Amino acid sequence: MAALAPVPQAEARPEVRCPTCRSKLFDGLVIKGVTVIRIWQSSVTEAKCKQCKEWVTVPLTYTAL
Ligand SMILES: [Zn+2]
Repeated sequence: MAALAPVPQAEARPEVRCPTCRSKLFDGLVIKGVTVIRIWQSSVTEAKCKQCKEWVTVPLTYTAL
């Protein structure tokens, strides 16, 4: 099994908002308001905004459990 998880860090992670429609996609803990998440080999994660279908980079890494 594998799961998506934020990088463990002490400080709060910044919010991520869609640059196009300003929807909150990531509130520092949880991804919300997205329809799809895709992960590139370079550990770049993108989420697709539910409102406007734009791809937005989010500060998560892929963790294999
Ligand atoms: Zn959007």
